[in-house]
Amino acid sequence: MSPALRFRVLGSGSAGNATLVESDDTRILIDAGLGPRILAERLESVGVDPGSLAAIFVSHEHSDHARGAAAFSAKWGVRLAGTRGTYAAAGFGAEEIAGYDVLEAGVPRTLGALTVTGIRIPHDAAEPLAFVVAAGEATLGHATDFGHVSRGVVDAFRACDALLMESNYDPDMLRRGPYPWSLKERILGSHGHLSNGDVARYLGQSLGDACRTVVLAHLSQKNNHPELAHLCASEALRRRGRTEVRLELTGAEGTEWIAVSRPKAPPNGSRQLRLW
Ligand SMILES: [Zn+2]
Ligand SMILES: [Zn+2]
Repeated sequence: MSPALRFRVLGSGSAGNATLVESDDTRILIDAGLGPRILAERLESVGVDPGSLAAIFVSHEHSDHARGAAAFSAKWGVRLAGTRGTYAAAGFGAEEIAGYDVLEAGVPRTLGALTVTGIRIPHDAAEPLAFVVAAGEATLGHATDFGHVSRGVVDAFRACDALLMESNYDPDMLRRGPYPWSLKERILGSHGHLSNGDVARYLGQSLGDACRTVVLAHLSQKNNHPELAHLCASEALRRRGRTEVRLELTGAEGTEWIAVSRPKAPPNGSRQLRLW
């Protein structure tokens, strides 16, 4: 039997992003956008020794994803992993961190029970990545901070059993909201953030058949309402006849553990047409 895969959001949104992913004794973090002390506390509160992490995968250099990475790495001896672009843009000093493993988009990296593949995404950062994390046959797709759902993301997420995706803003709230126009343009742009409508379109048109869990993440506090994001995504799933998909939302407080499992294949013949 393949090992179980599960994940738990420790924080999501502009206040700081971090997701714990675990299979057997292998644990990684995706992003470390919380301060090192808070991050260690949140790990300990769910029974995880901060020093037991196999690595922190950093999606990109923006502070809500990378703020605590270097200090946490130095304190707990945990290596960081990400692209060359992220390394340079985040200004990680080689002597100040436990180590840095350079990732190339599309090239899998195996750490114990987990295999992590970086996926190129369109976002206004140096060389940002989404991730597909696999343990045995179960796979999780994890993408925050991207301006549109590119073909590469659709392909990489097609076989995923669970997805965490940002549903950052409602376009009307953003347009009417308090941000300066230059920032609104950046968020709305093709290398900015995903709107509720972008997510709904993806769920309605491209969500893979295997997917059973979708977690909406990185919601803007100023330009979105959780109820609106949830309604938009659940309507899209309902119209597509995908009511079996469990839809969750996460914010600054994170989630409980969420199990990722591969749906069992139907018994032989059960999909055949019945002939009268
Ligand atoms: Zn972000
Ligand atoms: Zn960003």
